[in-house]
Amino acid sequence: MKLMRVGAVGDEKPALLDDAGKIRDLSSVIGDINGAVLADMSWAAGLDVAALPELPADSRIGPCVGNVGKFVCVGLNYADHAKEAGLPIPQEPILFMKATSAICGPNDDVIIPRDAQKTDWEVELGVVIGKNTAYVSKENALDHVAGYCLINDVSEREFQLEKGGQWVKGKSNDTFGPTGPWLVTRDEMPDASNLAMWLEVDGKRYQNGSTSTMVFDVPTLVSYISNYMSLQPGDIISTGTPPGVGLGQNPQIYLKAGQTMRLGIDGLGQQQQKTVAYIVADKG
Ligand code: ZN
Repeated sequence: MKLMRVGAVGDEKPALLDDAGKIRDLSSVIGDINGAVLADMSWAAGLDVAALPELPADSRIGPCVGNVGKFVCVGLNYADHAKEAGLPIPQEPILFMKATSAICGPNDDVIIPRDAQKTDWEVELGVVIGKNTAYVSKENALDHVAGYCLINDVSEREFQLEKGGQWVKGKSNDTFGPTGPWLVTRDEMPDASNLAMWLEVDGKRYQNGSTSTMVFDVPTLVSYISNYMSLQPGDIISTGTPPGVGLGQNPQIYLKAGQTMRLGIDGLGQQQQKTVAYIVADKG
């Protein structure tokens, strides 16, 4: 199933994308697409999809998971990306957190933060957790995955790399986490280890990769992370980006207001974001 959340910001309804590409309202069946609903998918058994009301095709799409508890990111998980960043290929997964307040819809505007000069893009495979998870083995790790989604791990490189401390500072501004358009459940995508992924800015393709070149694969990451924190249903792991980010260009290229990012991963749909300038609120 392709699960979605559709509607105005903060007021999204649960929905699914049917096989004909129609958005169907799930709000008569479940309250939201969130951890509790993903942990117990019994509601999906025998679902009469054709009987669900259709929602307008031009509805705003929200992030595909609501009430995300944790957004865990993996750094330098593609060898070529580590190289372009001038950093060694990690011996163990590099973990950092993105504030959940950064999460937004897949096609919402991305705000260039106040005083930002180095805002950058990262197409990534998102893994959505479906079970309480602690110390899970690599062999059992996929049983704890509800499904997969597309993520743009928007990053501000000066905040991330030049201001000391943890990467979280360059990863957490509002709108730095476009997530969706949909969550593909694992029964529909049993294997996410060989998916083409790409990202374009103003029509120019910068990233062209595949999840097959990850340094640490999804089962390894879920197992590894669960040694250091428990994971709950609805938590998201963003698994790193292939080469082609702005930081890796020569000279480096960063986003300005008025640009358009488009990105996609096979089977997980596409996103499109306009970049807009941060507007200081009028204090009157
Ligand atoms: Zn990333």
